[in-house]
Parts: sequence; structure tokens; C-alpha cells
Amino acid sequence: MFGLIGHSTSFEEARIKAKSLGFDDYAEGDLDMWCAAPPQLVETVSVTSPTGKTIQGAYIDSVFVPEMLRRFKTAKRKVLKAMELAQKRDIDITALGGFTSIIFEDMNLLREERVSAVELEWKRFTTGNTHTAWVICQQVVTNAPALGIDLAKAKVAVVGATGDIGSAVCRWLQRQGVGELLLVARRPQPLVELQQNLGEGRILGLEEALPEADVVVWVASLPQGLQIDTSTLKRPCLMIDGGYPKNLDTKASAPGVHVLKGGIVEFWQDIGWQMMEVAEMAKPQCQMFACFAEAILLDFEEIHTNFSWGRNNITLATMDQIGVASRRHGFQALALEPLASREAVLTA
Ligand code: NDP
Repeated sequence: MFGLIGHSTSFEEARIKAKSLGFDDYAEGDLDMWCAAPPQLVETVSVTSPTGKTIQGAYIDSVFVPEMLRRFKTAKRKVLKAMELAQKRDIDITALGGFTSIIFEDMNLLREERVSAVELEWKRFTTGNTHTAWVICQQVVTNAPALGIDLAKAKVAVVGATGDIGSAVCRWLQRQGVGELLLVARRPQPLVELQQNLGEGRILGLEEALPEADVVVWVASLPQGLQIDTSTLKRPCLMIDGGYPKNLDTKASAPGVHVLKGGIVEFWQDIGWQMMEVAEMAKPQCQMFACFAEAILLDFEEIHTNFSWGRNNITLATMDQIGVASRRHGFQALALEPLASREAVLTA
């Protein structure tokens, strides 16, 4: 059995969802009440692969909302309690979605082995980052040529290059062969180490990298105040919005600049579930975050271990492995809409 731990995208949206599910107390409750609320297993589903194999899964809402991010103890408790619930329900492999994996890693929750009386078994959880990195790479190689960008000559900026996903994307694109990798992050030392490990790549600030890039892969959460001067960007420019939340389209949309939601996959058939509606997917019945899909893939493949775990452990071999599984079990990376309809929307 696979599990997915997620959360609503805002407090307001969570209250609307609670109302629709008949939880009137929560719908009217304030943030303090939500902070004290336990995680909920809200849905169970069956998923069938094109191979004919069917598996069962469960969605656990951590009852975390982004408004709690500054309440560190609450955020930490929400994630650990959701993991405890997954383990108590005997779920074999559970993906940490949205902010929950960020909280897990940034607050170093690996130290917190015990929640109440339960000792957490890390092998039951995965961040889903290996599949996310592979899907983002697929989105680059599929969509750049569709825009007339020759990847063999293109400059590809990776914003968040030193991160878990970003460094894996750099290694994969290096093997693929791109014109030049532009490495962007805030701290210089990890950038230098990455450059040394790759044996290539140019370290640049964001403002220098953007005007040079034919393709930009964002695998960092965007600062709210970030402004992008779209007039300086190349045309065409492909931007893969792989961070969370996915808000690059509000900052960089312009004719000739093509923003694609990164790390999103579409399943080969509709799944009778509600859970992706809260994640604002265009087609919530079949689209999902690639990190969630990783738990589904691991369950299909009966790999019940923490496939993606810790920082900078993703290898080309594990990306290839999860990529083969992704195709076998009917997942496809989200692609740009046909160009004609995109330009019509932008110029309307
Ligand atoms: P990491 O924390 O490992 O890496 C984050 C990277 O971003 C680091 O290189 C960091 O370096 C850099 N960074 C952070 N802030 C900025 C900034 N303001 N400007 C430039 N660089 C910045 O994170 P992950 O690799 O695990 O995840 C990356 C993103 O992907 C996150 O937003 C995460 O939520 C999202 N994600 C999306 C998924 C999906 O859509 N399916 C699934 C999983 C994750 P430095 O601190 O030096 O700047």
C-alpha cells in the first residue's frame, strides 16, 4: 500500500474544503484550532497500471497550511504526526508532498525518531525527489525542441542548482549534453563544490543568468518579492517551474516566454480521487506531483524503501530506474500546450 502526505495550499482553501466534507467546526475554526488538529486519513483509492497490476493507497492530510510555516513547533509536529499516522496504518511507502518534505529536511526531523510511543521507520517514507528530478529533465528535453531550442547548443540555467533536485537535474542534463549549464543559488561554497564535481558549469547570479538562458529550470521556492524583468529574457525561453508553490507564471509570462509547471505528471487514466483538487491541478483526476507518483511507482515495483532520502544522494542510476518504472506504469510528464493556443491566450 502507498501513502501520500499533503496539505491544502492556504488556510482559506482548507476551510472551504472542510465545509464541503461536512467538518463545520473546522470550517469555522481559527488558525489556533487548526494548529491543534490531528492529521486525517481522508481518502483511500485503488490505482491500476497499464500492466494490469492494481494497488491500494491512502491520502493523509497533515492539516498543515502554509500560514503555519513560521510556527516552527507546529509545522514540525504536523509532519511527524502525519508520518506516525501513515506508519500506524501500516502503509508500506509514503511520499512527503508540498511543504512537508521541506519541513522534514530543513528542520532536520531525522533526529526525531520517536513520536509519542511510535518509533518512526524511515524506510517507509520517500521525498519523491528522484522522480521529480527525472520528470523535470524529461520536460526539458521534450519541450525545448518543440520551441525550436537546440539543447545541444542551449544555455540552461538551473536556479537551485545545489539543491537535492537541482544537483540531480544538473548531472542528468550534463549526461544528456546541453550547450552550457548556468549554476544559480545563493551560497557560493556549495556552488563551487558542485562546479568541481560536474567539472563544468558557470556560476552566475540570477540577474546575470536569466538574460543568457534559453531554458531556465527553477528548483527553488521563489521569494515572494521576486521581480523578473521579462523584457531582458531570450525569445523563445522555456521556463520549468519546478519549485513549490508553483507561481512563476505570475512573474514571467510574456509572449515568447513559455512557463511550464514542473514536476507534474499525468496518469494514463483517471483515478477516482478528490485529493488533487486541493493541489490546484488542471486535471485533478489524473495529474499529480511527481513526488506523489514516486510512492505509487515504488509500490507498483514493490520497492518498499526510502528510495529518495537526505540531500544530494540522487544518482543517474536511480533516476533511470524510476524513469523506466514511470513509463511502465503509465505516467507522462506534463507538456506545454500546443503553441498556437498558448500564443492566442497570451495575446488575448
Ligand atoms: P533543496 O533545499 O535541497 O534545494 C533548494 C535549492 O534552492 C538550493 O540550491 C538553494 O541554495 C536554492 N535556493 C533557495 N532559495 C533560493 C533563492 N532565493 N535564489 C536562488 N536559489 C535559491 O530543495 P529540493 O531540491 O528538495 O526542492 C527544490 C524545490 O522543489 C522546492 O521548492 C520544493 O518544494 C520543490 N519540489 C517540487 C516537487 C514537485 O513539484 N513535484 C516535489 C519536490 C520538491 P541556497 O540556499 O544556497 O540558495
